[in-house]
Amino acid sequence: MLKKRRNTNIVSIGDLRIGGNQPIRIQSMLTSETTNVDACIQEIKRLDAVGCEIIRLTVPNQKSIESLCLIKQEMKKIGINRPLVADIHFNPQLAINVCEFVEKVRINPGNFADQKKFKKREYTDLEYEDELEKIEKKILPLIKNLKKYGCALRIGTNHGSLSDRIMNRFGDTSIGMVESAMEYLRIFRKNKFNNIVLSMKASNSLVMIDSYRLLVKKMDSEKMFFPLHLGVTEAGSGLDGRIKSAVGIGTLLCEGLGDTIRVSLTEPSEEEISVAKSILQSTRSRIFKTDFISCPSCGRTYFDLERTSKDIKSKTSHLKGIKIAIMGCIVNGPGEMADADFGYIGAGPGKVNLFYGKTCVKKNIPSENALDELIVLIKEKGMWINP
Ligand code: SF4
Repeated sequence: MLKKRRNTNIVSIGDLRIGGNQPIRIQSMLTSETTNVDACIQEIKRLDAVGCEIIRLTVPNQKSIESLCLIKQEMKKIGINRPLVADIHFNPQLAINVCEFVEKVRINPGNFADQKKFKKREYTDLEYEDELEKIEKKILPLIKNLKKYGCALRIGTNHGSLSDRIMNRFGDTSIGMVESAMEYLRIFRKNKFNNIVLSMKASNSLVMIDSYRLLVKKMDSEKMFFPLHLGVTEAGSGLDGRIKSAVGIGTLLCEGLGDTIRVSLTEPSEEEISVAKSILQSTRSRIFKTDFISCPSCGRTYFDLERTSKDIKSKTSHLKGIKIAIMGCIVNGPGEMADADFGYIGAGPGKVNLFYGKTCVKKNIPSENALDELIVLIKEKGMWINP
């Protein structure tokens, strides 16, 4: 059974909202150096053109914050209003300073205030509590600025960068990842800052899935409903990277989890967006385009499925939300076209039947006219829009 989407808090990232019943947002991260303002602007333009809704960039030093201001100014000039997220590691002061210039800050609880020196050491409960107090002290000025500038925050836990403290107590585990995020969440909540999104990324899809599930359980038990940012980190490139991301992100979406996604590919950042859209469309989490259902073809097929599918797609792929089935034969086609709105089904050599839902509405159309007839049918049903 399909799971209902988890009810989460709404988080504002500039003018954009995520969580609740907002559409599941797509985001990416610039590969350009933040100090190369021109390259960043060109990349932002490409991401904006393909529909990336949130753009993250790395902020490793104070100079990057200055560049960020120039990037913001230029974006305003050219009319791109996408929220920017500053990605911070190892330097709490940068996170504090950058709040004024971005819509969201991402911190990694593994290295925000904790040590990451791969040291082995046992902590007594008292020492552990002391460490948490030290962390809270470092977080307080960040909370002040997040509130002051209306900024959102992502607590972005990564499997590969858990702190020494967490590693010593919980090991390199999903439980460790969850505890790492929960410690921070409790501090933010105690200090009345709730404009927070969470992520639990790992390069291993199974660890990633397990960690998000565990985090949700833990949050539920503490009555927390923060939205989730889903991603398989360092997924790689090409087919493998896409499948790994689809397995990790898609599984959780099917379970009703996830409010924003990022597909991490070792490719130009704009390549991530079409993959993210396909994952959302395949899980019916968010619809961007026409949904095509087509059989693989077999010995019963009455027409060239590959060519016909291409022709049909070229004329109808702009019909967002409509489902069109293209099936090679009448024997199995009607039954297997699932919940398609329209069916284009081989009826015999050179003949096509057209379906509206499960009803055959036009029979034995010569195949050379069938695509035009399909378009007429879509128009008759009031579902056509001009490209
Ligand atoms: Fe073969 Fe017909 Fe099934 Fe297509 S729908 S795979 S042509 S049996």
